[in-house]
Amino acid sequence: MKSAARRLGLSLLLLVGSAAAAAEPVTVQQMRVWRAPDHTRIVFDVSGPLEHRLFMLQDPNRIVVDMDNARLQQSMSDMDAGGPLLGTVRVGQPESGPLRVVLGLKADARPRSFMLKPAGPYGHRLVIDLYDTKATEQENARPEEDAISSTMMRMSPAKPVVRDRIVAIDAGHGGEDPGALGRRYRTREKDVTLAIARELARLVADTPGMRPLLIRDGDYYVGLRQRFQTARRQRADVFVSIHADAVPGRRAFGSSVYALSEKGASNAMARLLADKENASDLIGGVSLSDKDDMLAHVLLDLSHNKTMQDSVSLGDDILAELQRVGPVHMRRVAQAGFAVLKSPDIPSVLVETAFISNPSEEKKLRTPAFQRQLAAGLFRGIKSHLAHAVTVPSVPIQAIQGTEPAREHVVRRGETLASIARQHNIHVDALRFLNDLRDNDLPVGLKLRIPAKQGDG
Ligand SMILES: [Zn+2]
Repeated sequence: MKSAARRLGLSLLLLVGSAAAAAEPVTVQQMRVWRAPDHTRIVFDVSGPLEHRLFMLQDPNRIVVDMDNARLQQSMSDMDAGGPLLGTVRVGQPESGPLRVVLGLKADARPRSFMLKPAGPYGHRLVIDLYDTKATEQENARPEEDAISSTMMRMSPAKPVVRDRIVAIDAGHGGEDPGALGRRYRTREKDVTLAIARELARLVADTPGMRPLLIRDGDYYVGLRQRFQTARRQRADVFVSIHADAVPGRRAFGSSVYALSEKGASNAMARLLADKENASDLIGGVSLSDKDDMLAHVLLDLSHNKTMQDSVSLGDDILAELQRVGPVHMRRVAQAGFAVLKSPDIPSVLVETAFISNPSEEKKLRTPAFQRQLAAGLFRGIKSHLAHAVTVPSVPIQAIQGTEPAREHVVRRGETLASIARQHNIHVDALRFLNDLRDNDLPVGLKLRIPAKQGDG
C-alpha cells in the first residue's frame, strides 16, 4: 500500500516536471488581412516562434492551420475578411491539442505559409499567403509570351518594333510594411508613396508614347526583388521607386535621389538609407525561399555598367526637376546597395521625395497639391531622360549584351547548365538568370538565351 502511494506520488511529480519543461504556450495576439492583386495575406502576431501545420479540406473549401502549443490572447469572434478569396475565419481553442484556425475560401487557392522573425514594429509573425489559382495560371503562361515576343525581335533586329516607353513606378513599402512614420500626424510613408505613384501614373498615361506600370496599386507588400522583376518582365524602360525619408531629429529637409552602387556607398548616409530600405523585406514579409543570393553573382557577371550610368543620368534629370518643386537635400545623385534597384538592364532610381520626419514637410506630403507637384517633377525628369537617352526601345536581353545580337542554345541530351555555361564561356548564374530558370531541370530541346561574353565593356 505504502509503496504504491509513493509510486503514485512519484509519477505525479514526473508529470508536473514534464509540464514545466514544456515551453510556455505561444500566444496569438492579433490577425491582419491584406489583399494584393494575386493573393490574400493573413498575418498572425504571435509571442514567439511557432510550429504550425496547414492542410486543405473540401466541401466547403477551407484551409486549416494548426498551431502547436498556442493559445489565443483573447477570444476571437468569427470574422468575414471580405475580398474575393477569403470567407469566414474561425479560431477555435480546444481543451487540448493545437490551436486551430479555419480559413473559409470563396475560390480555389494555393496556400503558402512561413514565420517571420521580429522586425521593425513587429514581433514574431506567422504569415499565410493564399494565392489565387487564376493568377498563378496567368503567371505561368507569361514566360511563353515573352519567348514569342523575343523571337520576333530576333527575327527583325534591324527594325525594332516601335512601342510605348514603359515607366515602372514603384510606391515604396505597403501592407505589413508602413515605411517611415511622420512625427506630427503619424503619416505613413506607404500611403504617401502610393498617392504620388498614382499621380505620376496618371501623368504618364496621359502622354502619347508612354505607359505607366504601377508595381503596387493598393495597400499590400511586394518583395523588393519581385518589384524589379515585374518591371523586367514587362520590359520597362525606367524604374522609379518612390519614398519619403525619415532621420532622427526634425530638421533635415528636401528631396534626394539614389542609384545603385556595387562598390559600396557614396557616403555614410546613403549606406544607412540603403540598409533601412532593404529591411523592408523583413518588415513587409518575404519568405526565405523568395530570395537567394544568385543576383549578387549575376551582377558581377553581367556587365551592366551602361545601366548604372543610365541610372545616374536618370537620377540627374529627376533631381534637376525636383529642384524646381522644392529644396533638395543633396545636389548630386548618391549611390548605395539598394536591393530594389538591382535590375541589370533597366535604369533605376530611388527618390526620397521629402523628409516625413520633418513636421513641416510631413504636413506638405499629406496634401494632394504637393503630391501632384512632386509627381509632376518626377514626370518631367523621366520624360526628359527618355527624350535624350540613346537607348533603342529596349529588348532587355540586347540591353544586357550591348551590341551583340542574341544567341541561342538548344539543349541536347546529356547537357547540364554547367556544361552549357562552360561551352559559351559564361557564368552559370548568368545563364540561369537570363532564362528565368528556377532549378536545374533542363528538358532536351529547350531554347536558352545566351548572353554575350564579358570583357569588351
Ligand atoms: Zn522608404
